[in-house]
Amino acid sequence: MKKLILFGPPGAGKGTFSGQIKKVLPDIAHVSTGDIFRENLKKETPLGLKAKEYMDKGELVPDEVTIGMVKERLNKEDVKQNGFILDGFPRTLPQAKSLSEISDIDLFLLLEVSRDIITKRILGRYSCKSCGEIYNKYTLPPKKEGICDNCGAEIKFEQRSDDNEETLKNRLDTYEKNAKPIIKYYKKKKLLKNVNAENTLELTGDQIKSILEI
Ligand code: AMP
Repeated sequence: MKKLILFGPPGAGKGTFSGQIKKVLPDIAHVSTGDIFRENLKKETPLGLKAKEYMDKGELVPDEVTIGMVKERLNKEDVKQNGFILDGFPRTLPQAKSLSEISDIDLFLLLEVSRDIITKRILGRYSCKSCGEIYNKYTLPPKKEGICDNCGAEIKFEQRSDDNEETLKNRLDTYEKNAKPIIKYYKKKKLLKNVNAENTLELTGDQIKSILEI
């Protein structure tokens, strides 16, 4: 059972990489705080509406809201049995410290990618409205134009409302401000592993196993 953190700037490919890890560890729970906020927003829950105030501006949702939500998720049976990939959490040092009270961690994977590529990835990113599969106008188009590789439906474009130029600048600034102490924290715990994410990650099972040390 693995307990992993995927860390990196927006657009580093955390979601894509999580999908690849699941090829090797199919039962591992993918816990993306951004996804949980977006699901709540869709259902217009109080949590979703609160998160929206921050997400729209590219700011972080307050720690007390986010930490409580992650605590609840990591307490579920699937996580306890099969481990987890944390995608988008922790994003602040207090989040990292709270996490250490909830669970131990096997690896902190730092996805490294230049700002240039991030911009392309984020501004070109869209998803299939039917199944949520993620594509990119520049770097990751579907194999057959207009048809989703995953569900076969004709793709109706859906773009994240925070994937625009102005919000992206704030998201990147926020990342750069918070990242250093978090990386230092996990380096000190000897859990840090750097992963080159410049190219869209398309790794073999063996390569993934080697990264995950399994
Ligand atoms: P993401 O999908 O990971 O890019 O997250 C989208 C947005 O959700 C972020 O810009 C934040 O507003 C919010 N968010 C996601 N994860 C966190 C977190 N760990 N702490 C605070 N806000 C978060």
